[in-house]
Amino acid sequence: MTLYICIDDRALLRDVKAVWSRFQSSIRLPFAWSSLEFSQGVPIAQLAGVERVRAGAFVLRISPRLLLSPDWEIRLTLLHECLHLAAIAGPLSAMYDAKDELQRAQDMAKADLLQRYGQREFTPEQYQQYFEADHRRWTLAMNLANQLYEVDAEFALRRQYPECALDRARYYCRLRAETVSWDSYHHPYRPYAVLYERLRVDLALALSEEWQEDGMTLRTVLDREIAGCDPKVRDRIDELEQLLSPRRADFALLSEWGGDTYRDVVTRTIKQLSESLRPEPQ
Ligand SMILES: [Zn+2]
Repeated sequence: MTLYICIDDRALLRDVKAVWSRFQSSIRLPFAWSSLEFSQGVPIAQLAGVERVRAGAFVLRISPRLLLSPDWEIRLTLLHECLHLAAIAGPLSAMYDAKDELQRAQDMAKADLLQRYGQREFTPEQYQQYFEADHRRWTLAMNLANQLYEVDAEFALRRQYPECALDRARYYCRLRAETVSWDSYHHPYRPYAVLYERLRVDLALALSEEWQEDGMTLRTVLDREIAGCDPKVRDRIDELEQLLSPRRADFALLSEWGGDTYRDVVTRTIKQLSESLRPEPQ
């Protein structure tokens, strides 16, 4: 495996090398690399993230914010990303193929929309409206489907690194309590945003004994949101939850059904949201 470790600010490459070397000497990596390179890359919103650049080559992107984090947070974050990487390079590679394929189709649809706008098929207001709707439903669909990777990585950490499991579970629960948010979402996106938060709370509940009370309080608030939805929407949310929730699905089988389920969640969410958003370009 070729591994590229990137940061957007060239001046920080030396710090990234130091952080990686400390991390690597303190832990047994969940994959083996044959070539390792440090280089400048594109910025990312999260603390860190991984991607496949081509067969056998992966990039681990690090945000400058991670370098400012305490050592324990750097270690847990890098370990989590390394577990994602081991999964997409190994048992979940078919799921990653599905993700790649959907991303390519999405890029083409976006280019097509822009081209049609260039040919004056829509007014600037219509273009803006279609673009935003497309972006919102795509983001929600990806968030939901990517939750499959998150469950996989958290369970893998618990299984393969039991010495880090308690700290990671506490960290994950703290993130849930601090970042839970769906208020900026309105019809028809809101129930999907609530489902996303509920899946993350369910994962935290599956990981931590200590968080049961706080987690269940938060879950009750989210449940109430879903209970207030139109019954048809509620059924759709329930179907998606069957596929994605660590409470409902058997994640031991993820490597077998991951590709199809990933595709199914993304296409279903986009279709359902599109149906609620007429009129759309034909
Ligand atoms: Zn992750």
